[in-house]
This record gives sequence, C-alpha cells and structure tokens, in this order.
Amino acid sequence: MSSDSRTVVWFRRDLRVDDNPALATAAKEGSVLPVFIWCPKEEGQFYPGRVSRWWLKQSLMHLKQSLRSLGADLLLIKAESTIEALLECIHAIGATKLVYNHLYDPISLVRDHSIKQKLMELGMSVQSYNGDLLYKPWDIYDDKGNAFTTFEAYWNKCLSMQMEFVSLLPPWRLVPAAGKVNNCSIEELGLEDESEKSSNALLGRGWSPGWSNADKALTEFIEQHLFDYSKKRLKVEGNSTSLLSPYLHFGELSVRKVLHSVRMKQLLWVKEGNSVWEESVDLFLRAIGLREYSRYLCFNFPSTHERPLLSNLKHFPWHAHHVHFKAWRQGRTGYPLVDAGMRELWATGWIHNRIRVIVSSFAVKFLLLPWKWGMKYFWDTLLDADLESDILGWQYISGSLPDGHELDRLDSPEIQGSNYDPEGEYVRHWLPELARVPTEWIHHPWDAPFTVLKSAGVELGQNYPKPIIEIDLARERLTEAIFMMWEKDAATKVANSNGTNEEVVDNSDSIENLSIANVSVKEKTPCPTSSSHDQRVPTFQNSKSGLLNRKRAKCIEDEKLSQNNLHNYDHGCGTSRADEDLRSTAESSSAKKQATSRTSFSVPQSCSSSSEGNPLQEYESPGLKQPWPEQIVWEKTSSKDGPSHGEDDWAC
Ligand SMILES: Cc1cc2nc3c(=O)[nH]c(=O)nc-3n(C[C@H](O)[C@H](O)[C@H](O)COP(=O)(O)OP(=O)(O)OC[C@H]3O[C@@H](n4cnc5c(N)ncnc54)[C@H](O)[C@@H]3O)c2cc1C
Repeated sequence: MSSDSRTVVWFRRDLRVDDNPALATAAKEGSVLPVFIWCPKEEGQFYPGRVSRWWLKQSLMHLKQSLRSLGADLLLIKAESTIEALLECIHAIGATKLVYNHLYDPISLVRDHSIKQKLMELGMSVQSYNGDLLYKPWDIYDDKGNAFTTFEAYWNKCLSMQMEFVSLLPPWRLVPAAGKVNNCSIEELGLEDESEKSSNALLGRGWSPGWSNADKALTEFIEQHLFDYSKKRLKVEGNSTSLLSPYLHFGELSVRKVLHSVRMKQLLWVKEGNSVWEESVDLFLRAIGLREYSRYLCFNFPSTHERPLLSNLKHFPWHAHHVHFKAWRQGRTGYPLVDAGMRELWATGWIHNRIRVIVSSFAVKFLLLPWKWGMKYFWDTLLDADLESDILGWQYISGSLPDGHELDRLDSPEIQGSNYDPEGEYVRHWLPELARVPTEWIHHPWDAPFTVLKSAGVELGQNYPKPIIEIDLARERLTEAIFMMWEKDAATKVANSNGTNEEVVDNSDSIENLSIANVSVKEKTPCPTSSSHDQRVPTFQNSKSGLLNRKRAKCIEDEKLSQNNLHNYDHGCGTSRADEDLRSTAESSSAKKQATSRTSFSVPQSCSSSSEGNPLQEYESPGLKQPWPEQIVWEKTSSKDGPSHGEDDWAC
C-alpha cells in the first residue's frame, strides 16, 4: 500500500462493499474518501420517482453504516453540479485519483464522459471499473465487428465467451483520507418529502433495501426458490420470481456474485442428475442476460431512450391522448387485468414481468399511446426503475426490436387473464369492486349477464368502468395505424429515392415530452374508480399483506395455479403454451405477415469492436464518438415467422 495515495471513491449505483472494484482498488492503494453526490438538476426528466428515491435513501443509510464500521464514513453531498462537488472533494483531501464503477444508461454515459474528460484535462487520474455487468458491452460483437441487435445472438455469443470471474472480497479496513468537505445528513439530501413519508412507510413492510439484505435475499432465493423458477416464474402474484431487481438496479448485489452462486447450485444439481432444476438455472441466467442486454443496447445505441432501435415506427400515428393516458395510469381502462396491474404498480412500486408486458402492450396497442410516455411513467413509479431495462421492455413490446413482439400483435387481456390469473384472485385483490364477480366473468365483466353483475354489486360505468375501447375497434385502429405508417414509409422512400439517407427518428419526437403530473399521496382511501383524482395509495385495510408486501417470507403458495402453469408450460423449449394461445389471438393475418416481411427496417449501427485495453482501464463510449446514425438494412423476416427459442422468455 502506497500510503500517500488519496482516492475519492465516487459511489452511484454500486451501493455495496463486496465485489466493488472501484472501492477495492482504492482501499488497496491508500486512504479513501467515499462520496455520494445527489444532483437533482442533472437528473432532468429522469429524476427518480418517489419509491425509487425511498429505496435509495434506505440503501445509502445502510452503506454509510457499513463503510463507517470499516473505518471511513460515506460523505453525502447535495450539489448543483456533480463535477464541482467532485472537485471540492478532490481539493479537500488533495486527492491524486478519482475512481468509480461504470454506468451505461444514456444520461450517465454522457455525464461521466464529460466529467472524466474535464478531470483528466486538470491532470487528475481517473479510473472507472466494471462493477455492474458479467460481460462488458465493448467486448461483445459479431464476426463483422458489429453490435448485436437480437438477444438470442447476443446471449449465445456471451455464453461462448470465456469469462474471467473474479469476485472481490470486501476491504477489511478503510483508511479515511484527511480533509474537510461540506456534507449533509441523509434527510438533507431531500430524497423523501414530508408528504411522501406515510406512503413510503408501507414500503418498508415489504422490502429491506441495503447490500447485506440483498445478500440474504439472494441466498434465500437460491436455497428455497431457484429450483422452481422454471415452473413458477409465470405466476403473476406471490413471489414467483427472485425479486432481486431493485437490489441489482442499485448495485447492492454484484451480478458476478449472483452468477457464481447460481452456477455452484447448478453444478450440485447436475451431479444429482436433476434436469428440471438445472433448467431453472438456465432460465434464471437468461433473465440476468436480459439485464446485460439492456446495458449493451444502451451502450451501443445510446439514443434508445428517445428513438426505437428499428426505424419502423418513424411514421406511426401515435394518439397522444391525455385522457386515455390518465385512465391507464389510474387503472380505469375497464380491462380488469390491466387495471389490477396498474393499481398494484401504484400501490407497491413493483409488478411481475408478465403484468409489465400486459399493461405496457395495452397502452401501446390498444390506446396507441406513445411508448415513451409509458416508459417515463414506469420510470417514475417502479421501485426497480432502471432506465436500460425500462427502455428494453418498452421497445420489446412496441415492435421496436427485431426480436420483440410484432407491432401488429394484439393480445386479448381477457385471454391473458384466464391464463395468468385463472382464479381471478389477482384481479379481486387489486379491484375490490369486482371481488364478488364469479371467476367465469372476472376478466371480461362486460360480457356477464346483467343479473350476475347486479348480484356482484357491479354497475359498469358507475362503480367500475366500461372498456375504454372495444377489442375489435382496438384491432381495427391498430391495423389502420400500421397501414398508415407503411403508406407514409413508402411515400418517404419514393421522395428520398435520390439516394440520400433517411434520418432515424421516431415521429413521437414531435409529441411533447411528458412530465407526469405529480400525484397526491396524502389521501389514503381505497383506489377510487370514479374519482377525478389520480392514483392513490390504498390503505392497509384494503390490502392483503401477502400481496402488498412482496417480501419472499410472505409468499403464499397456490398449488392449483402452479399446476395450471405447469400444464401450460412447455419444458422442452422454454416457451409457454399460454403464450402460443396468445399468439393465436393476435391479429396477424398471413397477408399482413407477408407485407410485414417485405418491409425493410433500419437498425442504426453505432460501433464496431474497436475497443481494446485493460478491462479495468478507462473507456470511452463509442456511441459518443461515432457519427450517428450510420445505417444497415435489416430484413424483418425469419424471426417473425418462426419465433426464436424462448421468444416469450423475454417477456417472462
Ligand atoms: C415494459 C417493461 C418495463 C420494465 N422496466 C424495468 C425496470 O424499470 N427495471 C427493471 O429492473 N426491470 C424492468 N423490466 C424487466 C422485468 O420486468 C423485471 O426485471 C423483473 O420483473 C424483475 O423481477 P425479478 O427480480 O423477480 O426478476 P427475475 O425473473 O427473478 O429475474 C432476475 C433478474 O433478471 C433481470 N431481468 C429479468 N427479466 C428482465 C427483462 N425482461 N429485462 C431486463 N432485465 C430483466 C432483472 O434484473 C431481474 O432482477 C421491465 C419489463 C417490461 C416488459
């Protein structure tokens, strides 16, 4: 240890002490100043929502405690400018170096790049590390050196790569750097308003943020639930999946550690010849692979938060309809499964992946709302709000990815309801006004005989809305919109036939960037169905603890449902039969398919595999350097007609 080395360790979304490359390196070299800088101004339109800020606050307190017990406190700084705050820290301790772990979201990529440039110009040594991914995005390219644009190809390449797996132990002691910096208390950071505290208190009953809790959650999942993941991951209620997403988002859990622990378990099961359990591990790692892929796409195509990866949506006639958008947010669309999902999201800040797919598809395909609005709303309301995964999810469902859902695929919420909530319990829980509707009608109350509704106490249009749009009309509108888009595409091509390249834009660029109206969290009445107010937080009286509190300990086993899912699930290929049913409900006539396959879509190509060098060295985002956009043309053919293996695993 060279004792005169003084390093500022800049924490962001790597709120843990073990397997933290930036912290480990700094601790080895000398004294450290760990710092977290909160700069709301720089967050811009991606300022985190209430629940996400709540999590951050708890997690910071946890980390502060841990670092203190190792010998160095975590400084909390509220700043107008991150670079100025960093410079203040650097000057205060006479630091020779700044270290941090990479982030890949488009906002951080730009900010970090310019901070690094400026500090290096000032003669500082700045080093950044991979603390968030199994595979560094600049290591994975196809044979021609291009970035992958389909998950399957990307993941196969990853799996074929040798992975240097080194999990770093936490430093056993930290030497604090001497110097005085103005810092503030956790309350002064302002992550939580007074008005938010009572609603946030509910979150603490279901979730325990902090890196050591993340470790416990991982161990518990691996020991008690991983073996069942292949069977249960499609259940929309209870704890059917790992619930690790918020921990992974805030970097409280090292993804390398997740891989290592899960693989160890798999080895054991291989030895025991337990193939079903082994499959669970593969599927779980595929899910982790999707997270990796989300970072990969953002790194290689850093405009994906604004533009679809495919340019096919350039002329899509979005309906920027504020009343529909509000009804969707409030869970008042008249489609029970969608409404239940949206109310769960508002109340708990978390929903199952399948529900995310259902509600987001509804917004885009039924209501034709701009996908960016939905993405922003999820960003504002999810506990695990993660820009890259959010972007990936919304692009996946809106026909913006080569291997995502087709734009013309319209799934019926009624059929999805009977597949994923066969007994209607999920809907009954979140829509108490439908609690007495018999299971037969719970997912399509508009078809129920008047007498049935009457005895269930439901009056459509009064205490529960009529469908905001009929399925047939939605189908018609979507088809029309797609044809309109094609016509405009064709006209533009003709107009551009002089050979000039089209620019890849999404016509929703002309639609206002929504700042979602702040919603009142003070009022704690059960979710109203006929009020003009926006979403509200349900009271405890209104929420069964098992569902409101997603914590694994409160898992309620539902054998019947699990049997059902087991029945629907095709173990051989990892694609659920339920999904195949859904595919058949999609309005995808063969004529339209042919027309789809004739259409050329452009994928912007951003970078080639020019990156070299030490993984722990500084890097620059190729996306920031390369001219944008160069284009390649991709023929939308085979992946649509024959979905790739496990296509809907993406969604589950
Ligand atoms: C429209 C839409 C928006 C989404 N927004 C987010 C978001 O803001 N933040 C977020 O973390 N996830 C998002 N997802 C992905 C996914 O729904 C969640 O990661 C998952 O439901 C988290 O639950 P879990 O931890 O129990 O997942 P598990 O099934 O146990 O998976 C383990 C981990 O793999 C990763 N993962 C799983 N599925 C996906 C996926 N489809 N895409 C990317 N990573 C995945 C997550 O990190 C997750 O914690 C979104 C999906 C859709 C369709």
